[in-house]
Amino acid sequence: MASELEPEVQAFDRTLLECSAEETAGRWLQATDLTREVYQHLAHYVPRIYCRGPNPFPQKEDMLAQHVLLGPMEWYLCGEDPAFGFPKLEQANKPSHLCGRVFKVGEPTYSCRDCAVDPTCVLCMECFLGSIHRDHRYRMTTSGGGGFCDCGDTEAWKEGPYCHRHELNTAGIEEEEDPLVHLSEDVIARTYNIFAIMFRYAVEILTWEKENELPADLEMKEKSDTYYCMLFNDEVHTYEQVIYTLQKAVNCTQKEAIGFATTVDRDGRRSVRFGDFQYCEQAKSVIVRNTSRQTKPLKVQVMHSSLVAHQNFGLKLLSWLGSIIGYSDGLRRILCQVGLQEGPDGENSSLVDRLMLSDSKLWKGARSVYHQLFMSSLLMDLKYKKLFAIRFAKNYQQLQRDFMDDDHERAVSVTALSVQLFTAPTLNYERLQSDYVTDDHDREFSVADLSVQIFTVPSLARMLITEENLMTIIIKTFMDHLRHRDGQGRFQFERYTALQAFKFRRVQSLILDLKYVLISRPAVWSDELRHKFLDGFDAFLELLKCMQGMDPITRQVGQHIEMEPEWEAAFTLQMKLTHVISMVQDWCASDEKVLIEAYKKCLAVLTQCHGGFTDGEQPITLSICGHSVETIRYCVSQEKVSIHLPVSRLLAGLHVLLSKSEVAYKFPELLPLSELSPPMLIEHPLRCLVLCAQVHAGMWKRNGFSLVNQIYYYHNVKCRREMFDKDIMMLQTGVSMMDPNHFLMIMLSRFELYQIFSTPDYGTRFSSEITQKDVVLQNNTLIEEMLYLIIMLVGERFSPGVGQVNATDEIKREIIHQLSIKPMAHSELVKSLPEDENKETGMENVIETVAHFRKPGLTGRGMYELKPECAKEFNLYFYHFSRAEQSKAEEAQRNLRRQNKEDTALPPPVLPPFCPLFASLVNILQSDVMLCIMGTILQWAVERNGSAWSESMLQRVLHLIGMALQEEKQHLENAMEEHVVTFTFSQKISKPGEAPNNSPSILAMLETLQNAPSLEVHKDMIRWILKTFNAIKKIRKSSSSSPVAEAEGAIMEENSRDKDKAERKRKAEIARLRREKIMAQMSEMQRHFIDENKELFQQTLELDGSSSTILNNSPVVSGMTLTALGPAQTQVPEHKQFVTCILCQEEQEVNVESKAMVLAAFVQRSTVLSKNRSKFVQDPEKHDPLFMHPDLSCGTHTGSCGHIMHAHCWQRYFDSVQAKEQRRQQRLRIHTSYDVESGEFLCPLCECLSNTVIPLLLPPRSVFGSRLNFSDQPNLTEWVRTVSQQIKALQSLRKEENAPNTASSKNSKNMDQLQLPEGFRPDFQPKNPYSESIKEMLTTFGTATYKVGLKVHPNEEDPRVPIMCWGSCAYTIQSIERILSDEDKPLFGPLPCRLDDCLRSLTRFAAAHWTVASLPVVQRHFGKLFASLVPNDSYDDIPCILDIDMFHLLVSLVLAFPALQCQDFSGLSLSTGDLHIFHLVTMAHIIQILLTSCTEENGMDQENPTGEEELAVLALYKILHQCTGSCFLTFSALREIPSGWHLWRSVRAGIMPFLKCSALFFHYLNGVPSPPDIQVSETSHFEHLCNYLSLPTNLICLFQQNSEIMNSLIESWCRNSEVKRYLEGERDAISYPRESNRLIDLPEDYSSLINQASNFSCPKSGGDKSRAPTLCLVCGTLLCSQSYCCQTELEGEDVGACTAHTYSCGSGAGIFLRVRECQVLFLAGKTKGCFYSPPYLDDYGETDQGLRRGNPLHLCSERFKKIQKLWHQHSITEEIGHAQEANQTLVGIDWQHL
Ligand SMILES: [Zn+2]
Ligand SMILES: [Zn+2]
Ligand SMILES: [Zn+2]
Ligand SMILES: [Zn+2]
Ligand SMILES: [Zn+2]
Ligand SMILES: [Zn+2]
Ligand SMILES: [Zn+2]
Repeated sequence: MASELEPEVQAFDRTLLECSAEETAGRWLQATDLTREVYQHLAHYVPRIYCRGPNPFPQKEDMLAQHVLLGPMEWYLCGEDPAFGFPKLEQANKPSHLCGRVFKVGEPTYSCRDCAVDPTCVLCMECFLGSIHRDHRYRMTTSGGGGFCDCGDTEAWKEGPYCHRHELNTAGIEEEEDPLVHLSEDVIARTYNIFAIMFRYAVEILTWEKENELPADLEMKEKSDTYYCMLFNDEVHTYEQVIYTLQKAVNCTQKEAIGFATTVDRDGRRSVRFGDFQYCEQAKSVIVRNTSRQTKPLKVQVMHSSLVAHQNFGLKLLSWLGSIIGYSDGLRRILCQVGLQEGPDGENSSLVDRLMLSDSKLWKGARSVYHQLFMSSLLMDLKYKKLFAIRFAKNYQQLQRDFMDDDHERAVSVTALSVQLFTAPTLNYERLQSDYVTDDHDREFSVADLSVQIFTVPSLARMLITEENLMTIIIKTFMDHLRHRDGQGRFQFERYTALQAFKFRRVQSLILDLKYVLISRPAVWSDELRHKFLDGFDAFLELLKCMQGMDPITRQVGQHIEMEPEWEAAFTLQMKLTHVISMVQDWCASDEKVLIEAYKKCLAVLTQCHGGFTDGEQPITLSICGHSVETIRYCVSQEKVSIHLPVSRLLAGLHVLLSKSEVAYKFPELLPLSELSPPMLIEHPLRCLVLCAQVHAGMWKRNGFSLVNQIYYYHNVKCRREMFDKDIMMLQTGVSMMDPNHFLMIMLSRFELYQIFSTPDYGTRFSSEITQKDVVLQNNTLIEEMLYLIIMLVGERFSPGVGQVNATDEIKREIIHQLSIKPMAHSELVKSLPEDENKETGMENVIETVAHFRKPGLTGRGMYELKPECAKEFNLYFYHFSRAEQSKAEEAQRNLRRQNKEDTALPPPVLPPFCPLFASLVNILQSDVMLCIMGTILQWAVERNGSAWSESMLQRVLHLIGMALQEEKQHLENAMEEHVVTFTFSQKISKPGEAPNNSPSILAMLETLQNAPSLEVHKDMIRWILKTFNAIKKIRKSSSSSPVAEAEGAIMEENSRDKDKAERKRKAEIARLRREKIMAQMSEMQRHFIDENKELFQQTLELDGSSSTILNNSPVVSGMTLTALGPAQTQVPEHKQFVTCILCQEEQEVNVESKAMVLAAFVQRSTVLSKNRSKFVQDPEKHDPLFMHPDLSCGTHTGSCGHIMHAHCWQRYFDSVQAKEQRRQQRLRIHTSYDVESGEFLCPLCECLSNTVIPLLLPPRSVFGSRLNFSDQPNLTEWVRTVSQQIKALQSLRKEENAPNTASSKNSKNMDQLQLPEGFRPDFQPKNPYSESIKEMLTTFGTATYKVGLKVHPNEEDPRVPIMCWGSCAYTIQSIERILSDEDKPLFGPLPCRLDDCLRSLTRFAAAHWTVASLPVVQRHFGKLFASLVPNDSYDDIPCILDIDMFHLLVSLVLAFPALQCQDFSGLSLSTGDLHIFHLVTMAHIIQILLTSCTEENGMDQENPTGEEELAVLALYKILHQCTGSCFLTFSALREIPSGWHLWRSVRAGIMPFLKCSALFFHYLNGVPSPPDIQVSETSHFEHLCNYLSLPTNLICLFQQNSEIMNSLIESWCRNSEVKRYLEGERDAISYPRESNRLIDLPEDYSSLINQASNFSCPKSGGDKSRAPTLCLVCGTLLCSQSYCCQTELEGEDVGACTAHTYSCGSGAGIFLRVRECQVLFLAGKTKGCFYSPPYLDDYGETDQGLRRGNPLHLCSERFKKIQKLWHQHSITEEIGHAQEANQTLVGIDWQHL
């Protein structure tokens, strides 16, 4: 807050507390004019409590308000202490059987797909879990806030309306009991009084519009000069603008401005300044001035402080009323009465009306408070719900008008602002946008939104329709808002600007209301309902009439259109209305009377629209084959045509319903069938279909994309049901009612093909005369399209009413055809099927019968596959296929047949019969004109005249012939005895043409075509036709014909099949021979190549052999015991190692002198192994990493993709990448997936993210192997003594050197005093054996590790560089050991190559690094490390052994030791040192384990507790006991001695990880192959490990062998004060073995996560619900992501909560679950991130990212393990890199704001 600018907060007024609630209430009880009394009280106190300046204390305000203001009301209401009064009321109340829980934003809601009356019926989680629906097919969504639980509402559920909890309350309740009977008269009277006064007060003050005045009875005597400057929200200004303006106007910081803006967005208003009038007015003018430039200014009001105080209390009062009525249904009833009581001004003057009607003027905070009150009062009381519904319906028009105008005057909509606000980190911008377009979010904060609560209650909806004529009101209101009409009274949409789009969207909410009203169909119709529904239907027809023919288009010729015409608005309207149209039809279908009336009305309206369609048009006469018909001259390509024909389509729908309901046959006299004019019915739908054909033929190219889009939507699954499908139905209706020859001629004419087929020799003339090729092609396409249309008219009979099918058959057929294209996931299938108004496709009921489900694997989705037996129902010309789908399906189906060794014909499937009303439709197939068309096309194909025909044309004709034959066969098979089958297609096609052309018969032409060599693809189909033809002939002749003919036919058939088979076999043979020949050629070429390069190949072979012995872990000498370290180390024969550079492809030997070879590597900080996530390095510059704490809180991990390059090749590559990036960034300022500035690059081969390179080295110990001397090595005691002496000597030497002013003589004297140990030469400088290039790479990688590991600037001189190198080696080995153990994999099993290479190079590098570091620095490190085990007085900051990770210590000691050993010429060997160091650290670790072990005492003792190991460990424990006891205390704090068996067991278990890590370490360091036993899993390999590591299997023997020194060492370790504190329980220590870290446990059911997240509120903005709650999967913290409120500053930049969290929890890398989106988020650093598929799947094996489908989601533990594995393997960053490379849009996202 801008506190220094504002007056001090008023001192707390103590007198307020002295006001007694009881006394005040007493006074009120006596009062004659209660209203005046109460108002005086309020006028006096409210400003004193709420007028508290800029810096209110909400808690204090609430406390005072309760004490001074609400307390007296409660006393008054109860007539006694409310502490007793309310519980009494509560007891007397019969608890409600309605749940009514109001949903919070983001709370999960459930709807049962089986039982909910409509999808708006939802349950809260608690009710859902206690209901029967949890075992049904349910859908889960997250609430947008508002709305309530419908549990207990019997109208909402077909079954199981109560959950267990609310069922109890239904016992013994009689219907409609008056709840007031449970209250005493007194209470009723008092409640009525107080509610009336308070409700009125609240309404009055909230709707008060003066800024500087109060209502007269609240005005204060003396008015102070205190004002608020109140800022209101709008949708015009962006968040940034508001923040900027506020900073200027009220002089606050950016943080404060953000706070103001956030509250303004949330509550709709916020005071931004408090002070005198002048002071506030000044701020107001600055804000207005600053924001008026762009558009209109921000809305600001200077309001008197007392008014604001009263308004705040008014809100408080409304919530108080809401909570008070919760005590008793009686109180609720009284409040409802008060609210709905008509006021003094008559109509619309009740308090509820007043609130509703000023809704659009209220600010958001106020609206949501009173909406909540309405929900908990009016909507929870069954009686008043109805009354309220009536009020609502009465006010509907006014409310909608206000709502619509809202954005004009005041623009209080929140949506726009919040879009700008929360999409700032443009995360899913597109999706958000589309959400806002499709959702009616705007209404969330408008009272209009209550309509869903009212209109969806079936009984209410019905009542409102009948009593308030609601349907008509809604439609009329809607029509009122779309005023633009063209000359014919049709809607006309202007260009679709953003503002119009916004307004239009609001208008659409009315359609939603209409949908709510219609959502449940009546089971019983009353006459009144019929009457009102038909009234509504009239209004609806008026609406459709305005759409019939809207947006007409004309074909553009010559010039391309200049401006794409507006088309979206019309289609949006169509799309929104689609469900309503379907629902209206459903309503009609449920009552015959209504259906007939509706049909008549619809026909009348259509006649009005098009009755005079022949007006002014020239009638013409068409004739073909002796048939002739009259029609008009009309060309789609020349005149206006419209896609929008809702009236025609509604009529088609109703016609089909008539056909289905059989009314047409029962009462034909009721139908206006005689009024129907089939040519009029078909005219417009036919034009529309012709338009599509012409567009497809490329005739409308110049009309631009808008037309293409319209055609697309016309066929699209979202619209087709009420567009394309209905047009087909209308044509079917037409054909079934007219002479098919007439129909075909009209159709030919509309397709502009009449000329072609009515002129006999058109084909021949065509090719000779017409040279314009594109006209020919155009006509060809049109002919194809027309044939396709005929196929559809005959074949599409799967809608109930058209064909004799039911809805199940229809959906089955859709699914079969979708799956014919390819196997599909559930969601894909859902998307391709039309959804009804309940978002149901009906798929679940039938899917099992047509498809098999294939489960998903670790990635991918579950898939449905078509059952093979369903393939025969495949129709190549299925009308819902797009062109692309059709050709895909054709290919898939042909392939399938080929696989099954069948012929590839795709004949038309057997179809169900038509309903009687449509039955005559099939005659189109055998009509003369049809036969003429078929004959003509076949003729063209036979004559093969040029381009006048196409193969698709032929294919379609063949399909039609096939359909006709199928039809005939069906007829014959189903024909009753003696019944003459009139369908005689087979006879007609056998007849040759008549004079004058004398063409051959269709059959004859088919036989000719069968042998045409160019028509190979169609042969199978022609063969199928001939076969079917024969079969029909057989059936026809079955009674009369001779059996010989049959046999003949069969033989012919047989023969042709045999011939065919032979032909195929021959072809296959030819193909095989050809393949063999090619293979032979290739292998010949190869041999030749090898001959030429013989030497080369031999070399590779040898190399392969040699490298395999090194690389593979197979033993050199079998049977020999292998030892990894020490003097007895197994000697490994030296091998030359050759590697190839991936960049220059050159080969190179790895040795000390040659050019360096490097591996691409990625170094990162890691907390994967951390046991303490709260700890992180505060000041990296001063941090000392020498000792790693055993909590491993932050380590440095090195990974590599294993790709090898020359150092110089890499350098060149990296330089070029860098140069390129710099150029690109300057030019385009775009990010890449890698950050060149911090040294990142992508591996040139595999694009794996890398940030440095590791040099490849030979085992470094062998490089110094020349001085190996095996004889006479010191034992541990001696060695420790020698090393200590050497360290001491060095220490004094360094001290000397660091004190330059001391005389040199003294110096030398000291040197003598020092008594250098024998053979120790501290002045000796060893020669670095490595080549310059290798040395350079050693430094490069060392510096990189240092830089990344400590997050500091690179400095190769820093003494911590070697420590970081050793640490990274140790940490990486530890993390790999963990992975192997967790997965139960053997230690030396087959490791992935890249891991093996990485560990080897890393270990060897770390071992060689000291050669490029300063010798004294490394020696000093060694000295200090050594001092942690062997006490040395010169250090005082050595941690105690409980606080050291022993493996890190081991690695550092071993790798630092050569720096000391190289100056030792006494014959002490390096390997002796390694062994002693290893033994020493191992012993320290054992003591560590024993000190911290917490063996469970209840473990059973083993049978023989007297094993050697057990006795030894007991003895050791006794020593430990003495040491810890004798030093400080009289008795030891160490636990009483447990059994030896327990001790030994815990030592063995505790030390295993250490031994395994050590084995890996020495294996890679010294190159000794691993023993074969450890290469396989199963046992723990304890003995094998001990042998390999040169340890006794009884580890305690180490102590016994070296007891001389060990006892004193143990004592010194235990003497440490930290150890003492630990033993006394004053501190904690890590115990062993450390458990592996895991990602948090996730619940099985996703909704519990949603619930958890919905209870989570933003930790920064005081109880606000977080918009993007995000769960850290590593530690389980919930974060408020992607929002301004929780941004924090990190390294000088504002970052979101997730990014900030990754820095502490994952040292830069993080794994999150975005709960609302159900999406896993990977983050790395500030700039990198990606989304990853969540571990939750629905029952169909699919994830639901974005939670859009709402299917129940369950945890898939395999997928979760995979994410955990990525984490364990440190692959998160790599995964992000790959994702970003694959999808560039991920790079542009501002991940840091998440
Ligand atoms: Zn509930
Ligand atoms: Zn319930
Ligand atoms: Zn159910
Ligand atoms: Zn190279
Ligand atoms: Zn690579
Ligand atoms: Zn975390
Ligand atoms: Zn927050």
